[in-house]
Amino acid sequence: MLTYFPTPYPGEWWYSVLCRYHVRSGHSKYATTINELYGGRPMVHGRLIPGGDCATILSNLPPGVLSINDVLANHTLLPYYTRFFEANKKQQVWKALRAGRGSGITSVRTLMTDGTEGLKFCPNCYLLDTRKYGEAYWHRVHQIPLLGYCPMHKIPLVTVPIKFARLSEVFLPLGSVHCQEAEHGEKAPWMEPLADMIAALLYGDYAPTVGYNNLHTALISHGYGEDRISRYQSIDVGKVQRAVMEYYGGEIYEQYFSRLSAAVMSRLMHWKLSSPDRYALLAVMVGLDADTLFGPALDVTDLLLERLLSYKEAGVVYGKNDLAAKMGIQPGQLDSLAAKYHIEPFWRQIRQERNRCIRLLLTNSEYCW
Ligand SMILES: [Zn+2]
Repeated sequence: MLTYFPTPYPGEWWYSVLCRYHVRSGHSKYATTINELYGGRPMVHGRLIPGGDCATILSNLPPGVLSINDVLANHTLLPYYTRFFEANKKQQVWKALRAGRGSGITSVRTLMTDGTEGLKFCPNCYLLDTRKYGEAYWHRVHQIPLLGYCPMHKIPLVTVPIKFARLSEVFLPLGSVHCQEAEHGEKAPWMEPLADMIAALLYGDYAPTVGYNNLHTALISHGYGEDRISRYQSIDVGKVQRAVMEYYGGEIYEQYFSRLSAAVMSRLMHWKLSSPDRYALLAVMVGLDADTLFGPALDVTDLLLERLLSYKEAGVVYGKNDLAAKMGIQPGQLDSLAAKYHIEPFWRQIRQERNRCIRLLLTNSEYCW
């Protein structure tokens, strides 16, 4: 039996609990603690997806102290990484982990957007936890590699470089890490909504919708579909890649979208991709929050109308072709949309004007520039 096993703090990552156990145990060597935790059969721990380690440790605690469901649901990243799993696959994973076996999930991206690995903390959370609990601890949400901002405090996370693979041999309690501020670089407009989306995918009670996908609809309304308005059209991979590059920059593009194929895109649009990162990135890029992403079906023409009205409100006078291109539709579709919703055209018919002038110039009858 393990004595003095710490009670996890709110949102504490399971590896962090093990680190605090090591400190409490007073052992000078990591190996002694590992031996104690797993009864002489060392296991892998400190990974983004938990393995049999949680159930094994709980089996060495007095009954009723901690439940495996509580540990998996509230102290690991399992809810995040299984958010898009089909119900039966999700059940299988949970069943295996409850029984102390591996999850079978192998394809989890461990690299942060800059291509390195590390543990992360928020300086504000560090100070608040120390004040409230007497010590700092690793929060599970901060360890999601795609997350660069604390969803609670909206400030950059600080990274301690270390490979996840090393955490099975080393205990690195956050209390042993000096608390410093992260360097505040320029804050891009996507950082906060992405942090909110990632937090929602971890904590929320969301599941893929049946029979429709609002991300698909929103991508079409933003002009990333084939060149026509239809609920059923495919998404154009090239357009999405260019948009991601422009919106998020080269690092995120390289990590998540540079090898995007039409097949993967199709799986994304049918909720068939298991990793949540690309869903989060695309949804934020087209302005969806988690409630809308998993909410009632959106209508593509309604979304187009919304965008058209926002251009109208902005007061910039676009040429008709420019405006249509911005919305990812054909100029003729702009007319149909305006007619359908009784919107007076607020764009200039530049191309036609220019064509008329060119015709006039060619016939040499008038100079009109
Ligand atoms: Zn924080």
